[in-house]
Amino acid sequence: MSETVRTKLEMAKTPEGVEGPGFFLTSMEKAVGLARKNSIWPLPFATSCCGIEFMATMASHYDLGRFGSERLSFSPRQADLLMVMGTISKKMGPVLKQVYEQMAEPRWVLSVGACASSGGIFDTYSVLQGIDRIIPVDVYVPGCPPRPEQIIEGLLKIQELVGNESLRRRNSEEYKKLLNKYGIE
Ligand code: SF4
Repeated sequence: MSETVRTKLEMAKTPEGVEGPGFFLTSMEKAVGLARKNSIWPLPFATSCCGIEFMATMASHYDLGRFGSERLSFSPRQADLLMVMGTISKKMGPVLKQVYEQMAEPRWVLSVGACASSGGIFDTYSVLQGIDRIIPVDVYVPGCPPRPEQIIEGLLKIQELVGNESLRRRNSEEYKKLLNKYGIE
């Protein structure tokens, strides 16, 4: 590794805590948040052109692996982040919802591009006008298509949420109500 590359490398920032020689104290929540946010396993649910931008985001030039997310999961049971990229037809809706339901908690959703977020240019009877009609979404990425930088920005926003999420959130009444709104147990 060249000296320039080495000097540009940064370690993940430690969470807030008390530090001293040979010890570091922080809360369980912050330690778990730090680990989770830097090892998110995405499930790419790509149905059309936004998926091509995602391929560019994964490739060497942009390299999502720099953020700890190079390990894609094509099994919902081993994924933390559902990335929805592309037009979702109403026929495809139940499939997407099933994939979401098969993911274990805690799970997050990133809606990439205008189509996934709002139906985009396809204001028509056969296209779902936004995936938040069937599953809860954490972060929306605008654009048609969004550039890889925007997708990375979306992932960084997800990392922020993951790093700061309370360990109790998924058991809260508020969260259960949110899922119930979507008919998800
Ligand atoms: S937002 Fe644009 S680029 Fe993305 S899937 Fe829709 S039409 Fe294609």
